[in-house]
Amino acid sequence: VGISLDQKYQITVGQQLPQSFKAYCQAHYNRNKIFVLIDENVNRLHGEKVATMVSGFENTHVIEIPEGESSKSVKQWNNITNKILETGIERSTPILAIGGGVTGDLAGFVAATVLRGVPLIHVPTTLLAMVDSSIGGKTGVNHTTGKNLIGSFYQPDAVFSDIAFLETLEQKEWVTGMAEILKYAAIRNPDLFEVMEELIHQPLTPKKRWSEVVEESARIKIDIVQKDTLEAGTRAYLNFGHTFGHALEKVSGYGEITHGEAVFVGMIAACHFSQELGHPVSDVRFSPFLSLYKKQMAPLTVDTEELLDAMKSDKKVKDNTIRLVLLNDWGSPYLYSCEDHSLLHKSWRYTLDKL
Ligand code: NAD
Ligand code: ZN
Repeated sequence: VGISLDQKYQITVGQQLPQSFKAYCQAHYNRNKIFVLIDENVNRLHGEKVATMVSGFENTHVIEIPEGESSKSVKQWNNITNKILETGIERSTPILAIGGGVTGDLAGFVAATVLRGVPLIHVPTTLLAMVDSSIGGKTGVNHTTGKNLIGSFYQPDAVFSDIAFLETLEQKEWVTGMAEILKYAAIRNPDLFEVMEELIHQPLTPKKRWSEVVEESARIKIDIVQKDTLEAGTRAYLNFGHTFGHALEKVSGYGEITHGEAVFVGMIAACHFSQELGHPVSDVRFSPFLSLYKKQMAPLTVDTEELLDAMKSDKKVKDNTIRLVLLNDWGSPYLYSCEDHSLLHKSWRYTLDKL
């Protein structure tokens, strides 16, 4: 399935995409050279498939990226940039990013900066990367003072989401990616709640229905981002559950809780907050998924005071006013400037009690 974004940026979702990838490269690039920046686990598990994908290029340079968030660093950016420049690269030489959000964000930033920008193609291999991080053009690395503080907006030429990669994905990563899909359900298409409920009652393997969910999620993200590429307004709707979630990630310690787990919890809090303001959005919509998250999450030992402090110190907070994405109704988000911090306390207490 092809979804095109302002004519020049193509997203393809499906199974067994190596053929369309090859055709795309043949049509768009001089196939003299390609750099493949690939997550080490993905290279181990899917190296042969990747070799088939790039077999049309005369010279393939594979650079493995160690797994984990710590690879999203200036140091790794520097290592990779050195390797690429020492090998030799031209403005037209493509960089192929194959992996989850870590690989995509890092490789994207390398592509954005080497020679002031070379062609970038994303092949996301985690559910989260397929529905979220490979779309929208945010690239970057972390800094010791915080996540994603160094980076740029840089759009890929194309994204190829081949759900067959998900065959080897660990359960925890499936569940992490699901949170962002449930977010799209909440802010745009509530029908996704029912589809997801069906899917979690079956083994988590990449069957066709997942392809449809990935495609619909990608469509929603594209639509929101397209209207607001540089994040001036409505793109903020994508932060539903995230103001609460980021606070939880920070207080729990990154690595203790995955981003998706934190966002899932954050969405329950945001629903509760919305309900307190009179909007008909009961968090029972999230109940079918709660046990899945509870089963895999480490027990939370956080208190509401700490969470509130973390929310106030977020980089997006201005004048002590915390900006929340709330729901008027399912599928209808809006931005709310929160000055009444007691309601935040209440929503956190309610949410932590559920876990
Ligand atoms: P990740 O890239 O760390 O991947 C998770 C784990 O899955 C890793 O251990 C990886 O080795 C492994 N893996 C990847 N593909 C696999 C496969 N097919 N089979 C088996 N194992 C596989 O994590 P993620 O959740 O994909 O991404 C998280 C990152 O994405 C964070 O750094 C976050 O900041 C970023 N992010 C960026 C955006 C954006 O707009 N750019 C949006 C959301 C998140
Ligand atoms: Zn997120």
